[in-house]
Amino acid sequence: MTEFEVIAQYFKRNNKRTDVDLAVGDDCAVTMLKPNQRLAITTDTLVSGTHFLPSISAADLAYKTLAVNLSDLASMGATPAWVSLALTLPKVDHQWLAEFSQSLFAVLDRYHVDLIGGDTTSGPLSLTLTAQGILPKDQGLFRHQAQVGDWIFVSGSLGNSAAGLSLLLNNCKILDESDRYLLQRHLRPTPRIELGLTLRAFSRCAIDISDGLLADLGHILTRSQVGAEIELDNLPLSSHLIAKFSESEAINFALTGGEDYELCFTVADNKRSEMEQILRSQGIKVTCIGRVTPASNGLILLKQGEPVPVPTQVGFDHFSE
Ligand code: ADP
Ligand code: MG
Repeated sequence: MTEFEVIAQYFKRNNKRTDVDLAVGDDCAVTMLKPNQRLAITTDTLVSGTHFLPSISAADLAYKTLAVNLSDLASMGATPAWVSLALTLPKVDHQWLAEFSQSLFAVLDRYHVDLIGGDTTSGPLSLTLTAQGILPKDQGLFRHQAQVGDWIFVSGSLGNSAAGLSLLLNNCKILDESDRYLLQRHLRPTPRIELGLTLRAFSRCAIDISDGLLADLGHILTRSQVGAEIELDNLPLSSHLIAKFSESEAINFALTGGEDYELCFTVADNKRSEMEQILRSQGIKVTCIGRVTPASNGLILLKQGEPVPVPTQVGFDHFSE
């Protein structure tokens, strides 16, 4: 089978969006923006053995590749629109490609996104996805926009993905509902698209938690030149995480674990209660975990109001020794 047959069979489909002029099949895709719209563009690469275990299923891999990119759009408050996919495959495996493409299009449809192009090559398994989303001219959530006095919130619950990964890495038997939940949060994190869209009206600042709360909140603090106080007792931890791990392990997963793809965002005091009311009506769970302080205060972690040491090993760096 040729490269072009692979593309035609597994990645070419009639596009659903009316803002796509040309998609798979020409040298470039051509799409349309309205005058008051801006583009938000993000790329993530997933390499076998670095970003996913080689044992991952094709369906979970397609899901994850999309979810991590859509999460970046969510953290900007962008509406997802188009993706392109560069896929490097060791060989043409029809069952793998069929499962991959079916899962990919299911997630794309869920978020009303079109696959508009890509590249298909042979080599060690690796995926690079570029996602583009639309931002209204005067809205968006940026790392540099936190203000002293803002409340700090996170969505969902933290630490589940890292806990699920630890079950996989330690070859734990997946026995009960809690194991399944944690594993599922690792394999299928939810990009918080709807939350990002609602936050446009209330917030100017968000990040998605890909490397752990401390590392990613740290990016907000650096870019915004502010400090923060976080109350560890307020960290949202799932009942399944608590059921399976000690309190200190659970907190450690939540602070440093990564791959939760929840949003961490800030909101001014005078917008907080209206935001909470609307999110509640939308069934979107968020938790206030602290407050933005002046830069000179740095990052302070509190437990029952008392400062505790900040873990030094935060986040994942591909090139750190
Ligand atoms: P070119 O050689 O002009 O760069 P290619 O031969 O690589 O184009 O690809 C042919 C068409 O198929 C292009 O429109 C490209 O965007 C699309 N395409 C290639 N691989 C994929 C893929 N994995 N998913 C979606 N579209 C793809
Ligand atoms: Mg070309």
